[in-house]
Amino acid sequence: MTKMYYQNEINEAVLAEKKIAIIGYGSQGHAHAQNLKDSGFNVVVGVRPGKSFDQAKEDGLEVKTVAEAAREGDIIQILLPDERQKQVYEEEIAPNLEPGNALMFAHGFNINFGQIVPPADVDVFLVAPKGPGHLVRRTYVQGAGVPALFAIYQDATGEARSLALAYGKGIGAARAGMLETTFKEETETDLFGEQAVLCGGTTQLVKYGFETLVEAGYQPELAYFETLHELKLIVDLMYEGGMETMRYSVSDTAEWGDYVSGPRIIDESVKTRMKEVLADIQDGTFAKDWIKENETNRPRYNEYKKAGAEHQIEQVGSKLREMMPFINEGKKKVVVK
Ligand code: NDP
Ligand code: MG
Ligand code: MG
Repeated sequence: MTKMYYQNEINEAVLAEKKIAIIGYGSQGHAHAQNLKDSGFNVVVGVRPGKSFDQAKEDGLEVKTVAEAAREGDIIQILLPDERQKQVYEEEIAPNLEPGNALMFAHGFNINFGQIVPPADVDVFLVAPKGPGHLVRRTYVQGAGVPALFAIYQDATGEARSLALAYGKGIGAARAGMLETTFKEETETDLFGEQAVLCGGTTQLVKYGFETLVEAGYQPELAYFETLHELKLIVDLMYEGGMETMRYSVSDTAEWGDYVSGPRIIDESVKTRMKEVLADIQDGTFAKDWIKENETNRPRYNEYKKAGAEHQIEQVGSKLREMMPFINEGKKKVVVK
């Protein structure tokens, strides 16, 4: 079994004298900054003037420009969108790095694909929560946590590992468990997971399920409940107890349909294409294409986004969710703090 690291075996004292600069105050940034502060650490947020700058101030954090925060920080955690990191790093962070500082990430993209090349005299490591930022904050407040991966790319001080573990404890990840990986493994598996299963695979499956029902003449509202809304309830059961718990809870008819029809829908050819997607990630094809898309102002990204928003499932869904305000209640409470 892979070794998991939990709370009680991690000494957070290594972080006590350090100033932690959180660069960016978005999904992950707001959660890391607030959790670390609530864990008793010295945090400064670095972000450009604007919406998230104001939000960080309102949340009671010390907020500076990216360059100032990078200068003050002993640990500099870059929580900007991956495609913006290279430029901000080169212009505002790199000139303010001192020997012995630690450069941190929550995803290995820029290091793994050679976009950011840090100097040899700083520690480089990542702590990557395996969940969205808002849950990193919400679970922390509830006394729980989102599990995280950690990886050491460069250990200039000899302290990188203990710093990474202490940081994970500070954001609440060690309550759920931390697992050691490499930048390469974290980057490739993260990209594969979101493309093949979590985001890409799931949205496409839901969309085709919805369209199949609507094209056959069934009511769109019913199709929405059947293929999108109820998915969460099924996934919650898998989350709690694996596929067996889900299959125990559904009817035997549903379980039988799962066995006989599931493999007709998701057959071996899907796995073949998953392997192609993985190969594109591993050899850098995906990264190259995404970097180019950003350099040309995202023509395809914007087109896909527009088409996604205009799909009937989104129109129907937004009306139905308006009548179910309870769906977002928990989320609102956390975001407003
Ligand atoms: P977000 O898109 O939520 O971050 C946006 C933040 O970056 C905002 O504060 C924004 O400020 C700021 N920002 C954007 N561009 C600039 C700029 N040029 N200069 C200064 N600040 C800027 O990022 P995420 O939290 O989604 O991702 C951060 C990292 O965490 C990524 O490496 C990602 O892969 C990783 N990660 C993300 C997860 C998630 O749940 N989203 C899960 C696990 C890892 P403004 O308001 O001014 O635009
Ligand atoms: Mg991920
Ligand atoms: Mg990701």
